[in-house]
Amino acid sequence: MGVFQPRGGFDWFIGKVNILFASTEVTPFAKTGGLADVSGSLPKALSGISCQVKVIMPFYKSVKAMGMRLTPFSVGEFNFLKYKEGDIEYIFVSNDGYYERDNLYSEPHGDYPDNYLRFSYFSRSIASYATGSDFKPDVINCNDWQTGLVPLYLKIKNKNIKTLFTIHNIGYQGLFKKDAFDEIGIPRKFYTVDGIEYYGKVSFLKAGIVYSSAISTVSKGYKREIMTPEFGCGMDGILRTRGSDVYGILNGVDYSEWDPEKDKHIAESYNSDRIEKKAECKKDLVKSVNMPAETLKRPLIGVISRLAEQKGIDLIVEAAEEIIKLGASIIILGTGDEKYNSLCSGIASQHPGYISSHITFDNALAHKIEAGCDMFIMPSRYEPCGLNQLYSLKYGTLPIVRATGGLDDTIVDLSSDKDGGNGIKFRNATKNDMLDAVSRAIELYKDKSEWQKILKRIMKQDFSWKTSAFQYKKLYESLL
Ligand code: ADP
Repeated sequence: MGVFQPRGGFDWFIGKVNILFASTEVTPFAKTGGLADVSGSLPKALSGISCQVKVIMPFYKSVKAMGMRLTPFSVGEFNFLKYKEGDIEYIFVSNDGYYERDNLYSEPHGDYPDNYLRFSYFSRSIASYATGSDFKPDVINCNDWQTGLVPLYLKIKNKNIKTLFTIHNIGYQGLFKKDAFDEIGIPRKFYTVDGIEYYGKVSFLKAGIVYSSAISTVSKGYKREIMTPEFGCGMDGILRTRGSDVYGILNGVDYSEWDPEKDKHIAESYNSDRIEKKAECKKDLVKSVNMPAETLKRPLIGVISRLAEQKGIDLIVEAAEEIIKLGASIIILGTGDEKYNSLCSGIASQHPGYISSHITFDNALAHKIEAGCDMFIMPSRYEPCGLNQLYSLKYGTLPIVRATGGLDDTIVDLSSDKDGGNGIKFRNATKNDMLDAVSRAIELYKDKSEWQKILKRIMKQDFSWKTSAFQYKKLYESLL
């Protein structure tokens, strides 16, 4: 821990803050969505501003397959493997019975039934590592329900380590049957309305909210939203009881991964001064997904998404025919719920040549889509932060977004601010509102010189971790 000097305010904390960053997905080791991007890049940004950060995650099959040289060690009953890259040490929790599986959380037909065991074990191992190893964290930054029990295990152990519980998506709550309680090593006295009981079940997310030192989420807009019944997914009341301990810090972009100037996955590198090269990326994309050459003359709209109800994919499917009539083509990359997987495949087979659908997880194709498309659409019903709209800005791919959460915070509609706007925004999650936004984008696209001017401007916007990492650091320090 650093040295305190009595000067007042947050900035009197001198020296390194030790952070244990706990997450169940971290790029480049394991990823299903934005949490992995954040867990891969925020620790690096923090280590550049006087934090010593260790990242702890499960030792999944995908990590094992990477074949790094790892050093094993144990703390009590728990086995770990460590690996250092740059300034960051990665601590992998080893338990093949729990983590040596094809997916992180679920199979196509549903969640793994023993997730309560898999992630309570993960949380217990984090608490043991934090209290029993050489590393003495000042703050443990827990992320999402899978790490929600960490503050409670610390409390049970009588260890006063500060915890920040970061909510990346309140729709996922780690809700399990009451019987699970007996298998996760938590005394019965915590099974109360003020504890981790939630309508007759056990909620790992609620444990994180109730027992952590502070709570954060990934944009200011989403912070406000989750305190309301409409977006709180039943947790708004509990969050309001912790009102003054809840913070919103916008996610940043890792521009070492997402920058068309350095991107190794795309056909030609470009930036705002060489934007004409973006056309080569479109050609390459269209060719690689076998769309007809005519697509090059049409505005091409990209979608990269987990296919879940949250993402409003059904609106795109409903509006697909009209979007094609407006003159655009669509490329979809996503995977998730069976229902949306088949909706997306179905719409592509109904409109061959105009809609190309890829039901898979493919990072290289995601980069090609960001670079090769003209527009990117996110009709989310709710969106805690959203990263692809920020990647799209950097790639000169105009974002069309629904005004919610982080999308609303980061995108300014061009019609309300012609010189400062950076995308097209619509209010309601309806087909008509979305179509109106798409048609406004297509109209803009027709004026080539104006279009180029807008793209050059939005590509220069900076959504790096610079500001947000500093806000995290200040928040950690305020807990000490
Ligand atoms: P969420 O975390 O809700 O899934 P975000 O927009 O915050 O949404 O982050 C999604 C991240 O996952 C982005 O980096 C996006 O490119 C990536 N992604 C989502 N689906 C796929 C896919 N099918 N293939 C490759 N990358 C994907």
